[in-house]
Amino acid sequence: MRAGDAMTKQQAQDEAIALATSALKLMDERTIAPTPNNFAVWYNYFSGDRPDLNRALSILLESETDFTPERNAQIFEKYCAAPYEAVPMHLIAERMEAELATVLGVLDQAERHALAYGRTLETVQGALAKPTPSQAMIEVLSRLLDQTRAMRQQSRDAERQLEDSAMEVNRLRDQLEDARREAMTDSLTAIANRKMFDFVLRQSAMDAMESGEPLSLLMLDIDHFKQFNDTHGHHIGDQVLRLLAAVLKQSVKGQDTPARYGGEEFAVVLPQTTLENAVKVAEAVRVRVARRSVVNRATSRRLGSFTVSVGAAEFRPGEPLRVLVERADRALYVAKHSGRNRVESELVAPCVEEHAVSALSCCGN
Ligand code: GH3
Ligand code: MG
Ligand code: MG
Repeated sequence: MRAGDAMTKQQAQDEAIALATSALKLMDERTIAPTPNNFAVWYNYFSGDRPDLNRALSILLESETDFTPERNAQIFEKYCAAPYEAVPMHLIAERMEAELATVLGVLDQAERHALAYGRTLETVQGALAKPTPSQAMIEVLSRLLDQTRAMRQQSRDAERQLEDSAMEVNRLRDQLEDARREAMTDSLTAIANRKMFDFVLRQSAMDAMESGEPLSLLMLDIDHFKQFNDTHGHHIGDQVLRLLAAVLKQSVKGQDTPARYGGEEFAVVLPQTTLENAVKVAEAVRVRVARRSVVNRATSRRLGSFTVSVGAAEFRPGEPLRVLVERADRALYVAKHSGRNRVESELVAPCVEEHAVSALSCCGN
């Protein structure tokens, strides 16, 4: 090994030790458990290779945020782990496809070469046949020609097989995509399920911290749904859940995620949305829902309408997501106890006491 190489290696080692020492020191100061995942996060932070990671962590450090195990896991998942369970599979499939396309190209070229080679031989054979060349020579050339034809055929067969493989890879990729979507979709209402909601909220919170954009959350609950179920039956109850999901989908933009949070509770993640605008969205949903009437499809009988109560809250950079959900839930609780069919939200001011919930927008009947 040359001296220059040795120096570079030594420097790299020294740098790695310095980064690791800084990471461990900060983790110790902030009482962050020295797990491999946490170490990966803070090593990356000090290396400065990930500006997005550094921006988010700087905000958390400046706001003296507690690095709870929950938060540490979120950070690792977002920046250092595979971002999405099925994405690597998807990428692998894409890479496989690219690989196959290359091989197909090579084979195609090989076949063209074989074809050209065969033509040349045919020409030579024709030329040799004229001035009565030796029989042995003609036989050799014929054998060569046969071999070339066989070679071309083999190449064609291989190409066909590879085309089949490429189709199979495509099919598998579609299946993976379907399975991924299914695992993240609520089977009754066909909107995002709780798992997807958790994922989207986590991603959106990280995005909000990076960009400084607001992020809001709505929690919705159907009013007197038990009574509705008891009166009309579960089947009609399910129809109501689907109807609410449809109204939610109609009422939000592409970047927003309506989700079934569980049972008859729904949530909407609203990135780049202030609390004030979130309340407007909630109000539009509330009005739309109240205007729809539920019809028994079997008998065409109108069963009346139903209403929803909504709680809205805006994300405070650095807070655990559990707290955001709790605040939206608390606003929903206030809406329920103020008469239902209402939208309630927390106060906007960040210094407001956690329990203070006010009627930023109270929209009763
Ligand atoms: P409130 O206005 O206070 O929200 O009253 P509520 O009756 O809506 O609330 P409660 O929590 O007492 O009842 C919720 C009901 O939701 C009970 C359950 O039968 C119904 N429910 C939950 N999940 C489903 C579902 O998947 N399908 C149907 N049909 N009903 C469901
Ligand atoms: Mg409920
Ligand atoms: Mg309810």
